[in-house]
Amino acid sequence: MKILKDRIIKDGIIIDNRVIKVDSFVNHQVDTALMNKMANEIINRFKDNKIDKVLTIEASGIAFAYAIASLLNVNLVFAKKEKTSNIGNDDVYSAKVFSFTHNNENTIVVNKKYLKNNENILIVDDFLANGEALKGLISLVEQANANVIGCGIIIEKGFQDGGRFLRNKGYHIESLAIIKNIKDNQITFE
Ligand code: 5GP
Repeated sequence: MKILKDRIIKDGIIIDNRVIKVDSFVNHQVDTALMNKMANEIINRFKDNKIDKVLTIEASGIAFAYAIASLLNVNLVFAKKEKTSNIGNDDVYSAKVFSFTHNNENTIVVNKKYLKNNENILIVDDFLANGEALKGLISLVEQANANVIGCGIIIEKGFQDGGRFLRNKGYHIESLAIIKNIKDNQITFE
């Protein structure tokens, strides 16, 4: 999506040639006009699918997920990160997610009331890197015997393995900008 790629070049801040900060328009300050355009683009890419609910992970996926869910007129659910392990709590589906940016492991949970058998779920997030967040979210959906329609991502870092791994498993992944590599603070898109 050209408008997004241009914005990443203009306002993205690159750290160590591997992390991109997009705080000024995606996940600290949110450019709502851009967010709505990106939401429309994701909806267009999944237009052949019936979507009952949008699922993301707190906190940085929520603005994108909200924009998509509100345009589709469906509910949004965000998985919560628990400091204490909630495994064994019968009220929630849970999965462990290793955070690439924070270098720690979180247990993510969704109350069983909010993911139901056979619901069609679109999973979304701001970034796809090693795929840990998506794998955790997919696991929650599959624990609920709901259907993963696919995953919609703002920025995929194609030089990390998550996208390839999940596509090879057969999941429909759509990313609005895929970064091939970053060298000397220069971003190359696929
Ligand atoms: P993954 O789980 O695919 O390894 O990483 C995705 C998660 O880590 C996303 O939820 C996102 O918040 C965070 N993340 C990964 N890479 C980046 C990055 O380059 N910049 C930012 N801002 N977040 C990232």
